[in-house]
Formats: sequence, C-alpha cells, structure tokens
Amino acid sequence: MSLTAGDDIGRDVGRDLGPYIGRYIGRFAPSPTGPLHAGSLVAALASWLDARAHQGRWLVRIEDVDLPRCVPGADHIILAQLAACGLHPDAPPVYQSQRGALYQRALDQLIAAGHAYPCGCTRADIAQANAALGLSKPRHGELVYPGTCRPANGGLRGKPARAWRLQVPDAPADHINWHDQRLGPQSQHVAQAVGDFVVKRADGLWAYQLAVVVDDAAQSITDIVRGEDLCDNTPRQILLQRWLRLPTPRYLHTPLVLAEDGQKLSKQNGAEALDLSDPLRALEAAGAALGLHVIAPTVGAWLTQAMARWTLLAKDRTGNLA
Ligand SMILES: [Zn+2]
Repeated sequence: MSLTAGDDIGRDVGRDLGPYIGRYIGRFAPSPTGPLHAGSLVAALASWLDARAHQGRWLVRIEDVDLPRCVPGADHIILAQLAACGLHPDAPPVYQSQRGALYQRALDQLIAAGHAYPCGCTRADIAQANAALGLSKPRHGELVYPGTCRPANGGLRGKPARAWRLQVPDAPADHINWHDQRLGPQSQHVAQAVGDFVVKRADGLWAYQLAVVVDDAAQSITDIVRGEDLCDNTPRQILLQRWLRLPTPRYLHTPLVLAEDGQKLSKQNGAEALDLSDPLRALEAAGAALGLHVIAPTVGAWLTQAMARWTLLAKDRTGNLA
C-alpha cells in the first residue's frame, strides 16, 4: 500500500458498506504528517472504542489532502502503530489524495446553487481590507474574510480567481447550533467566527473542510469521535452538510492531551512518536486521558476491558446505546 496505490478503494467503500447503513460507522482520520503521538492515539482509541461499543464498523481515512505537509511513508507508520495497539480497521483505508473527483462534484454543486464563489484576494489583500474596516488579526486566530469578492460586492473585479469560498449566511440569527455528546450544546455564528471560508485553495488543493464532509457522507459515517481541537471546525462542516444535502453525523469530541507547557501536543512542541515496543503502556496512557483506568496483561485483554468501561460511559451519556 502506498500514497498512490489502491485508487479503486475509495470508490468502493461507500458501496461495500450498504448493509451497514442505518448502523454505527465510525472513523479515525489521521493526517500523515508524521507518526501518531500520545494525543492522536487518544482520538484513535476513543473512535475505535465507541464503534466497538455500538457493535459498529471502524474505518481509517488517511487525510493526505494537504500533500505538501505529508511525509512519505507516514501512512504506513500510522497503520503499523494502530495495529500494534490492536486497532484494526474493518476496511482498507481510503486516501483523500485519490478522491479529488468527489470533491470537485461537491464544489460544482455548491457553485450551481450559488453557495460558492471565486475569490481573487491574497492574504495581504485580506489584511488590508480588514485594516480598512478597523479589524485586526485576532491572536492565534485566522483572518476573518471580509467578503471582498462576494458577487453582491462586485465579485472579482478583474482579478484572477485564486480560491473558492463558501458564502456563509451572515444574518444575526444565522447560528449553527449542534450537540456534542461530551461538551453538550454548542453554537457558532460562522460568519463572525471565520467568515466565508475556503473550500478550494489558491494552490489548487482541496480544503480540509470540504474533503472531510464529502468523505464522511461517502463512507456513511454516523458518528465522528475526534479530538477537541477540531471542535470549532464542526459548525463549518455542518453548514456544508446542509448545503450539500448530506446527513449530519453525531459528534463526540475527546479531551486533549496537553504538553507540559499547556499547549496542544504536536510535532512542533516535541510530541514524541508512540513507542511501538510497548503498546500496552501507550494504551494505558491514552485510556487514562479518556477516564478509563484499565490495567491488563495483554493488548487484547486491555481493549476488552476498556470497551466494557466505555460502553458504561456511553450509556451514561445517551441513556441507551442506539
Ligand atoms: Zn476575495
């Protein structure tokens, strides 16, 4: 298996899962930018446990849509790390880099419905337009796109198209409200928080938000269990689901494992790759982050016990296991 092999897999997975539609299908969707670290194993384990607790299926999707950030071979390392921890997907993994035709179809649909428009702005253009409006870049935040190229504002005005953006509803009442199974009721005004966001990038690559939404629907994902760092992406994804007439899955965002400096664990702040020589210790640490304090002699026994505990937690959360 490699980043270029198996291009028929992506097309077939949605069809193969036909008999499971209406039942639980979960997924773990790592970016192959490096090996799994302690934080990413927590998300992998939680999504696996939740799928197994619901007697559902668990899929792995390699999110290599941002090819320049991907590290060749990291997909193999991630799959080997998962296997060492006893986390085996129920179908061969799909690769986002091979699914561009699906994303293009979705973009065409958004354009035809008047929900997406071309944008000719550079980052400097956006910063300048925001400055003219008296807005500055929030700390750690992305620039909110000021809507310069919206059709109602005159469109491209002769600039070449660079990216495609979603025209986000911006009336005061246009909040996306949703429920997270751990965090409870959530709400975001997408226009104020991020503005018209990019669905196809200026460098021609597909934006993460569009690819995730298209793939979750194509793979009939019913439940998304992932790290809390992705929580504020959820309203953008729900908006895309609505406009593409796709179902909205259930969401559960898991606690983050923080580095000693209190920041999110990442390769930038020295998160170490998981040690494959001792998967049991890695599972114990990931379980502890999820409130599962399980000690067992083998990986298999550990997973069985952890699943029993997770099932009780899931019943507490929902009152039943649908
Ligand atoms: Zn623009």
